[in-house]
Amino acid sequence: MSTLITGGAGFIGSHLTRLFLEMGTQVSVLDKLTYAGSLENLKGCMARPGFRFYRGDVCNRGLVEHVMDESRPENIVHLAAETHVDRSIMEAGRFLETNVMGTHSVLEAARRHGVRRFVLVSTDEVYGECLEGSKKETDPLRPRNPYSASKAAQEHLAYSYLVTHGVPVVTVRGCNNYGPSQYPEKFIPKVITNAISGRPVPLYGHGLQTREWIYVTDFAAAVALIMDKGSCGEVYNVGSGAERKNLAVAEKLLDELGASRGLITHVQDRLGHDRRYAIDSTRVRGLGWRPETTFDEGIKQTVGWFRRNDCIAV
Ligand code: NAD
Repeated sequence: MSTLITGGAGFIGSHLTRLFLEMGTQVSVLDKLTYAGSLENLKGCMARPGFRFYRGDVCNRGLVEHVMDESRPENIVHLAAETHVDRSIMEAGRFLETNVMGTHSVLEAARRHGVRRFVLVSTDEVYGECLEGSKKETDPLRPRNPYSASKAAQEHLAYSYLVTHGVPVVTVRGCNNYGPSQYPEKFIPKVITNAISGRPVPLYGHGLQTREWIYVTDFAAAVALIMDKGSCGEVYNVGSGAERKNLAVAEKLLDELGASRGLITHVQDRLGHDRRYAIDSTRVRGLGWRPETTFDEGIKQTVGWFRRNDCIAV
């Protein structure tokens, strides 16, 4: 078994790479090493037998062809993306290039080479905000910021490659991940790294927006299971059910760190900020997946990791 992971030097990709290597799967990683990716995240993987690393851009079709030719993967997990909503509001172009054109390039390579599964890792944000209940896989997509719009666009493109060219796409829509090695521009590591260095902890608006939080190793386990057992053409929501308001998450982190809640500083709300995301994960649970890490335990682990690793606030 061999798998190509695009974006494998990023947060989720590096946890997934480790999981696959532990499962005995050969892994090739293609990653551009943008500000969000780092070989540090793959420490311990580089020297493992069956691991290869290619540095480069998924938009580079010649390079993607070369990687496919050389590594001959049975499966592809496509994670490489621009991922920070705030950056997409400032500069959407790069999101369209990587998330849409980059996906096109990887789909084309999958079409030409043939793969058993093409796992597209998408997000619950494609549904747009969910003010009550939870979104099912069959609900319409109503993305409301450039990041989630680019993710919805890549989903539509991938579905068209399934129908038109028979590329065996399966789509995963994950809720908010957190855990070790997440880049500190994202909410949870930002609160932790700012608090550790005694800086104010910025909170958008009133802080009452709610998100569903999943520990990254639980999410990686779901992606691996869906790659193995998920049905071709199907979409799987992957959520933990652990829904929390941003203010409550910030307070919990500060308490865990022994820092003052007075560090919380309310700042002007994000443009078009979605108030709530929530997804129904009955379908993936039907494959036998359950999250194993409670929110309390995951937060302890995450805070411990950032304390031990001297991460710099950004
Ligand atoms: P990340 O920002 O930590 O990592 C992205 C990785 O992609 C980095 O290693 C980066 O170097 C690489 N990359 C970016 N542009 C590239 C390009 N043009 N060519 C090759 N590599 C490139 O992101 P993450 O949080 O690990 O998310 C991974 C995937 O999961 C993304 O597709 C994201 O949309 C999706 N997702 C993330 C979450 C979350 O909460 N983190 C939730 C649901 C879905």
